[in-house]
Amino acid sequence: MISRRQLLGLGLVLPLLGAWPTNDTDLEAIRGILRSGIQRDSGGAVSAVFGMDPAVVAEVLQRATREDALPGGYAPTDLVSVAAAGVPAAGYQVLRRIVLEDARALIEEAANAGNNLYVGSGYRSEAYQADVFAAQVRRWGDEDTANRYSARPGHSQHQLGTTIDVTDAFGAFRKSPAADWLRDNAHRFGFVLPYTQASVPLTGYVDEPWHARWVGRMLASALQAAGYQDWNSMDADDVVALVRSDSALDG
Ligand SMILES: [Zn+2]
Repeated sequence: MISRRQLLGLGLVLPLLGAWPTNDTDLEAIRGILRSGIQRDSGGAVSAVFGMDPAVVAEVLQRATREDALPGGYAPTDLVSVAAAGVPAAGYQVLRRIVLEDARALIEEAANAGNNLYVGSGYRSEAYQADVFAAQVRRWGDEDTANRYSARPGHSQHQLGTTIDVTDAFGAFRKSPAADWLRDNAHRFGFVLPYTQASVPLTGYVDEPWHARWVGRMLASALQAAGYQDWNSMDADDVVALVRSDSALDG
């Protein structure tokens, strides 16, 4: 169900989608479009960011990259069991309630197209990520190599509770039609794929075509229209950072 506010936001942004630069070299053009997705009330306060409530955006668009850590011990407060909500998952997985419906719709649409997606990994706490990272260090032998495959604790987008690995069979997924389907369709359900092949030198992580970060349908669709998956001088997380700072949500 789309709220009135979302409809208003959509009306504001859709005409601009065609004006998106289709490469990442025109930073000022990109910033102008991003600013146009930020709505203000008559007093100048931010009232919506790409159709989303600023309070939601302040959490959902937090910076979580190889360089930027989340606030220490950050944990969302609306985590719910994925399987209990009827969304396919590998084992016990939890996600923020606000992404459940988009996650369900993504997985259902994928299945309709013959692709088996499920929540292979959802929310991971900072403490759990410490275990994940330690296991990767044991596997690869040193922290720098491990950090190309796995985030350090505090840096994982899974700690946001809105990021999903849509499989846990990574090798098979990488070469599967499901990966192509996800690249073409994730945005329709509010997800971006930050770890593309083109962005490897920027993110510092190997490409992970299964790793889907939720940023809301409007922002994800705007990024898709701009061809972000082929960008190689900025990445989806850079856009997240720009939207956050231009919305004065930083700090
Ligand atoms: Zn992931």
